[in-house]
Amino acid sequence: MPYTAPVAEQRFVLEHIVRIAELAATERYHAASPDVIEAVLEGIGQLAEGEWAPLARAGDTVGAKWTPDGVVMPDGYKAAYKAYVEGGWGTIGVPEEFGGQGLPFAVQCAVLETLGSANMGFALAPILSVGAIEALQHHGTPEQQATWLPKLATGEWTGTMNLTEPQAGSDVGALRATATPRGDGTYSIKGTKIFISFGDHDLADNIVHLVLARTPDAPKGTKGISLFLVPKVRSDGTPNDVRVVSIEHKMGLHASPTCVLSFGDHDECVGELIGPEFGGMRAMFTMMNNARLNVGLQGVQVAEAATQKAVEYARERIQGAREGQPAAIIEHPDVRRMLMRMKAQTQAARALVYYAAGQVDRANLGDAAARDRLEIATPLAKAHGTDIGNEVASLGVQVHGGMGYIEETGAAQFFRDARITPIYEGTNGIQAADLVGRKLSLSNGAAFATLIEDLRGAAHPALGELVAACDSVGRRLQTADADDRLAASYPFLTMLSVATCGWLLEREAAEAGDDAFGKAKKAVVAFYLDQIVPEALGLRAAAEAPAAPLYALEAEAFAA
Ligand SMILES: Cc1cc2nc3c(=O)[nH]c(=O)nc-3n(C[C@H](O)[C@H](O)[C@H](O)COP(=O)(O)OP(=O)(O)OC[C@H]3O[C@@H](n4cnc5c(N)ncnc54)[C@H](O)[C@@H]3O)c2cc1C
Repeated sequence: MPYTAPVAEQRFVLEHIVRIAELAATERYHAASPDVIEAVLEGIGQLAEGEWAPLARAGDTVGAKWTPDGVVMPDGYKAAYKAYVEGGWGTIGVPEEFGGQGLPFAVQCAVLETLGSANMGFALAPILSVGAIEALQHHGTPEQQATWLPKLATGEWTGTMNLTEPQAGSDVGALRATATPRGDGTYSIKGTKIFISFGDHDLADNIVHLVLARTPDAPKGTKGISLFLVPKVRSDGTPNDVRVVSIEHKMGLHASPTCVLSFGDHDECVGELIGPEFGGMRAMFTMMNNARLNVGLQGVQVAEAATQKAVEYARERIQGAREGQPAAIIEHPDVRRMLMRMKAQTQAARALVYYAAGQVDRANLGDAAARDRLEIATPLAKAHGTDIGNEVASLGVQVHGGMGYIEETGAAQFFRDARITPIYEGTNGIQAADLVGRKLSLSNGAAFATLIEDLRGAAHPALGELVAACDSVGRRLQTADADDRLAASYPFLTMLSVATCGWLLEREAAEAGDDAFGKAKKAVVAFYLDQIVPEALGLRAAAEAPAAPLYALEAEAFAA
């Protein structure tokens, strides 16, 4: 499917939201000079447009296939992945000490945005590897880092995340996979994991599985979980005892094999402990936090691609007339409403996710306030970013009319691909619970207060009103009864996300010039502030409602 990387927009957001020049002035991110950023954005655009986007359709229609010898990707994927590895794209955000290019996480996000807009399912492979690299960087021993990081960084090997089991989805603490010491410092891993993205494939020589499991006599729940590195091929070159039982037949994302993996069928599955025993959740959170931003980024990816496709269609499809002349549908006000909304929401999601990514980089530089901002921004970026991806993909189908429902246009593929993003990496309901349960009261409410202080700079009257509403509802929720807090969590998450997006977009509009890009930016931001911000104000009643009405029906009565 044709796709054009939005280089000017990405550069603008890196400049004015991430404030990349401030990062480039530090020793750690000195590589992020303007010409390097330009070369990265242009270069990844060429790879995505020329090699990854043309494979998206085959990814959907042919998809990854299970065979007794392992999962096989559709034709062309191996070569396109090789081009990614050889271009050095995997090493962008990896620190120089681990053989990477040492660029900020925000720049890596821009790279992954472009790859994912071109081919969302395929881009999950590098996204998961980024998570594995992060976990090893922070929790691996120097020996583990030396063994596994270099080839994970280049992308010669890929990484996976193994949490889910049939009885343990959102409730990770219910997992049962076991890890028994073998007496030589390694562990024997046994158990079944389901829904493992890129759990097997033929793109790379090895796959580094990061697996959550329990050691003997481990305490129940999340406290007793440890993290293990379980390679597909051991470091001595022998195959490990990991079997791909099957891959799922699913709604979308067919280029991403979603595997059932069985570890230790023959009691020969060898794993290494990463971090301390029972430190699994902490280590996994390192992986999950960035993965959550990367899933929010998938919302941006699909929204950008769906918008480009809808705009192209709307300019060509003739239907009806305006001023006596046959009109392309882009001339009709309601189609314009949809397209403006698609553009505004896409830019809002990008601003939010890149902003959060920039806080990762600042936190890495030791900025404690940035760490607080990131803690709050993470559930917003994941949940609201993916909600936007779904809304925009759905509008994309609508703009295409009946043709949107017909597979050959590709609008339906975006819609199907997007649907998983509010579900995996912690459902959006779990993100909302995290926001009101843990993040609002972080540092005695100081983290939330910092964000609200930032947002108070808002100039648009409706945005000012929304910020005040978020402040009042958020402070009330900090002391509310747990049920009331959880009942309010989702509407509140949306209010706070829209307020943050509005504030970021206002900042963008203030920096926009009078060229074509700047004029378009100001028009899109005005639309967001005038039309989307007031909708979020309407959620206040729901965010202030007690939980009781949600329990007005007994569970059985729902079925009546
Ligand atoms: C395509 C695909 C790829 C995936 N990739 C991976 C992967 O690579 N690695 C991996 O480990 N997993 C992966 N997953 C699993 C995914 O992370 C889980 O599906 C997800 O965490 C939800 O768990 P569940 O499916 O068991 O749903 P459930 O936990 O059963 O949730 C069902 C519903 O109940 C809600 N709910 C559950 N508990 C609560 C609660 N406490 N409070 C409020 N609401 C709640 C949820 O929000 C949801 O709406 C993948 C799944 C899919 C479909």
